Amino acid sequence: MSAETCLVVMYHYVRDSRATAFPEIRALAPQLFREQLDWLQANYTVVRLADLEAALDGRGTLPASAALLTFDDGFVDHFDTACPMLVERGFTGTFFLSQDTCGVSPRLLNVHKTHFLLARLGAAAFSRAVLAESGLARPAVDGPGVFGADLWEEGDDRAVKHLLNYELPFADADRVLDALFARHIGDAHAFARSLYLDAAMVREMARHGMTFGFHTRSHRMLSRLAAEEQRAEVAGGVEWIRGLTGQATVPFCYPWGGRRTYTAETTEILRAAGYSVAFNTERRRLRVAADSRYELPRLDTRDLPPYTGGEEDAMLATAPSEDA
Ligand SMILES: [Zn+2]
Repeated sequence: MSAETCLVVMYHYVRDSRATAFPEIRALAPQLFREQLDWLQANYTVVRLADLEAALDGRGTLPASAALLTFDDGFVDHFDTACPMLVERGFTGTFFLSQDTCGVSPRLLNVHKTHFLLARLGAAAFSRAVLAESGLARPAVDGPGVFGADLWEEGDDRAVKHLLNYELPFADADRVLDALFARHIGDAHAFARSLYLDAAMVREMARHGMTFGFHTRSHRMLSRLAAEEQRAEVAGGVEWIRGLTGQATVPFCYPWGGRRTYTAETTEILRAAGYSVAFNTERRRLRVAADSRYELPRLDTRDLPPYTGGEEDAMLATAPSEDA
């Protein structure tokens, strides 16, 4: 049995937030990205998605210290900052797009409306605004779980994210976030145009050797959808990415990505839809022989230097990781 492993690293925003109108956005600064690439270059061999797919198929082998770099959510940061730094070193990355963000009329996803509203208002004010706009009563003091009043009082963003991502009906979350974004930030369509990759950027990145994957149409949490709705969220992604990039195979990445964000049916739906592999956010090293190809684990950039002493630090971490 093969003992091959691969370190898969996950990135989201790669930008100098302090130089933007939203300094509170939790981004990887370009200088830290550069330091992490230096560390990867010194300690790992950065492989292409095709190399990992070949190893999973038994058609090839990975180098001893293989690393794969993945980037979620199709931010223009990936074109402006990440891609040039990868190209400089001869590296490639795998970039996951939600289809609604990348088209003639890109749509600002709820997950990103939430990030920018949190950055603009702070957790306490944003939480109060969400409660007021949704018409929900203030959580009971002795209520269970994340709705404990202490969390709202402390301005912790976990409670409001949980409410928006897991609890509120989709239509209510859409309405609440549309209203708050328009009130506190502005035109969501214009914002989306400046936040996300467009098709021309995707094609240019592909010409530089970058690989693309699908991240659903609308970034809804798959575990909240019936099987038929899940099929609709992933349908057409293989053909769309192939048409944009000319790739032979198309990988998938789960929105949020924790174990509670998809169901036992999801992996079979992805296989039937023709995706080559799928990545979640289970924080550990990928094992080629042992892991399901539709549940491949990844570490977050913050699990690795310069944030931590090394990969082994992340292995000791117990906090659940989600692309929140
Ligand atoms: Zn995402």
